[in-house]
Amino acid sequence: MMKICTHCRQEKDLAQFSKRAASADGYMAQCKECRSRYGKEKDQLAKKRQQARAAYAANPEKYAREQKLRLLNPAAKKKHNQYNREWRKRNAEKERARHRENYWSDAEASKNRVKRYQSENSHIVRQNESRRRAAVGRSTPAWLTRDDKTFMQITYAMAKIMSKMHGVKYHVDHIYPIKGKTSCGLHVPLNLRVIPARQNISKGNRTHPYV
Ligand SMILES: [Zn+2]
Repeated sequence: MMKICTHCRQEKDLAQFSKRAASADGYMAQCKECRSRYGKEKDQLAKKRQQARAAYAANPEKYAREQKLRLLNPAAKKKHNQYNREWRKRNAEKERARHRENYWSDAEASKNRVKRYQSENSHIVRQNESRRRAAVGRSTPAWLTRDDKTFMQITYAMAKIMSKMHGVKYHVDHIYPIKGKTSCGLHVPLNLRVIPARQNISKGNRTHPYV
């Protein structure tokens, strides 16, 4: 009996193939020779990787210096940025967790950093605020009654009172975000709740899991 290896495309005797119970014919698709070469290449790659890792761990400063020099080249820099952008996209959840942890690991310093950024970029801050106001406006239905509006004002007052009471900032949160990625919540009484600012910030524009 003969069989063609899917890797080297050579027709070989069945004895040249390892047995594999899950296959229809009872043998592997690649010949023993190809399998063994593949295994060796994999081992070599793993070894190379391990060596590179060890070299880096032994002298991280040297690699940081080299990286810095490499990135002076605009083409390399572009490729590097592109890779990082894609990595962050693939690991969005991980990145959010990392930022969250980083922010709260020294909240005071983070707040100062944000304040500094805001004072140096007041035009961006103003733009974001006006976008935010516009989003709230778009999400406010015309059918709100006077009682609805009163209820909402009370909710905002409540956030202020709770901030004073507990000594930490409380925000009014839209349970369904008004600037959600896939859905759009409304600026209406039933979509409002008062929660600690810390929770609100870490939520971003994602709907909370328990809603
Ligand atoms: Zn083969």
